[in-house]
Order: sequence, then structure tokens, then C-alpha cells
Amino acid sequence: SKVPPIILNNGVEMPQLGFGVWQVPDDEAEQAVTTALEAGYRSIDTAAIYGNEEGTGKAIAASGVPREDVFVTTKLWNSDQGYDSTLRAFDTSLATLGLDYLDLYLMHWPLPSADKYVDTYRAFEKLLADGRVRAIGVSNFLPEHLERLIAETSVIPAVNQIELHPHLQQHALREYHAEQGIATEAWSPLGQGKGLLEVPAIVAIAQKHGRTPAQIVLRWHLQLGNVVIPKSVTPSRIKENLEVFDFSLDTEDLAAISALNEDRRLGPDPATFDAG
Ligand code: NAD
Repeated sequence: SKVPPIILNNGVEMPQLGFGVWQVPDDEAEQAVTTALEAGYRSIDTAAIYGNEEGTGKAIAASGVPREDVFVTTKLWNSDQGYDSTLRAFDTSLATLGLDYLDLYLMHWPLPSADKYVDTYRAFEKLLADGRVRAIGVSNFLPEHLERLIAETSVIPAVNQIELHPHLQQHALREYHAEQGIATEAWSPLGQGKGLLEVPAIVAIAQKHGRTPAQIVLRWHLQLGNVVIPKSVTPSRIKENLEVFDFSLDTEDLAAISALNEDRRLGPDPATFDAG
């Protein structure tokens, strides 16, 4: 594959760049994931709440890519938190994907108001011990939630998937992850493609390297050590977002992008988000 792996804290290899399918309807997901696998992606990020595990699984099955060469992530939705309900939701996700094991299972949000994330995580540990998933992790966890998990359970999460892009650089959380051996995975790595890709500093760096702004932002993440899962349903962009392993940003470029931090979220605040 074109994409180098990172090594998770349990030794499992995860491609540093994957394909995200949030907001892609099930029927379109099959086509988009097919295009991504043909282009060379070997990691797919879905979630129960996205409603496209079926299309994603069909594309993987039809691709001809050996199962062991694709890294599949899905996520437990909030309303399924709790020990027994997590085990049931995992079975449902696996069946919908048409798989007999998963590579990475993530708890989608901490939902501190429900106070169930420790019990939920104990079910994740059971799934890991039973060999049904190769790595377990969380998403949208703040340091206080990670600290509690680490204090009250036995397996340090392999991954925390968080909103992360040049306008929300998450310095404190990234540093905490590094101390604990948790991989940082960036969601909305392109800032959802909105204003970020028109920021003059990014456009200038793109012109300097003969690349697109999206490629510059993805390259910045990769050089910082983040895992990225950009989303697109446009074949040319799906391919473009993978062509980021044959050039490098220099220290000046990295500094110019790091200067764009505004600590500005596009998504909800994990401390208060409690949608079920
Ligand atoms: P993203 O940052 O990947 O941006 C995607 C959008 O950027 C596309 O819809 C398109 O409009 C634009 N874009 C993509 N490639 C482009 C290119 N080459 N040139 C110009 N524009 C381009 O946003 P995202 O979809 O929100 O995040 C990526 C993935 O992260 C999701 O698909 C999902 O898998 C995951 N995610 C997880 C959570 C979570 O709570 N864990 C939340 C949001 C997203």
C-alpha cells in the first residue's frame, strides 16, 4: 500500500491515512468505498449512527482486497452505551458490515451526563479479550474522561479520534495522548472543506509545492503524527487525498500552518454533548 502504518499501543498496525464515510448515504457509500479501495485506501472509518455499515461492508466484500489487508473501524452509538447493550450493538454492527472480526471499535462520545462510559469500555475489553476486535479505543474523549478510564479499567485505549484541523489543533490533548501511548486520530481533518481550504497561508503553501490545499493540510497532519480519515464522494478528490506521500512540508510551512490555530470547534463540545 502507499500508506505507511502507525503502530498502535498493542502492536497492531493501522494505516496513517484512511477513508471516512460520515454523511454518505448507504447506497452511495458502497460506490465511494469501492472507489477508495481501488485508489489504494486500506482503512475505512464508519459508525453505527452513519447508517452506512451495510454499503461499506458490501464494497469491502466485492473489492477483491483480502480481508486482512483492510483496516475497518466502526463506532458504538451513544444510545447503546452500557455493558450488555454494547455487546449487542457490536454484534449488530459486525453483522451489518458482513464481517467476522473488526479492526478497531471506538466509543463514539463519552456522554459524561449518562456516566456509562466505564461500563461500556469494560464491554470493549471483553470484545478485545475474545478476539472479536483487534484494537479498542474512544472518540471525543477529553483528558478527564481518559484519566478515569485509565484509572478504572485495564486496557489503555489504542486511539482517541477527535476533531482536529489547523483551526483546532488540540495541543493539550495531543500531548496527553503522547504521554499515554494513545494514537491521535483526526476527524474532520480538512475542517469539513469549508473556509479552511481557502485560507491564504494554506493556498500559498499549496502553490509553492504544486499541490492542492487539501493535500497540504493532510500532509501537515501526517508530519505531526496524526492518523487522518478525510471524506469525499468525488473520485478525483478521493484519489487526490491519497497522493500525499511523495512530498514534504518544510519547517517554515509547518510553522505557518501551526500559526492558524483558533481553538475553534466545528462540532459539539464533548463535555456537554449528550444526543442519544
Ligand atoms: P473532512 O474534514 O474530511 O472534510 C470533508 C469535506 O471536505 C468533503 O465533504 C468535501 O466537501 C471537502 N473535500 C474533501 N476532499 C477535498 C479535496 N481534495 N479538495 C477540496 N475539498 C475537499 O470532514 P468530515 O467528513 O467531517 O470528517 C472526516 C471523517 O471523520 C468522517 O467522514 C468520519 O468518518 C469522521 N468523523 C468522526 C466524527 C466523530 O465524532 N468521531 C465526527 C465527524 C467526522
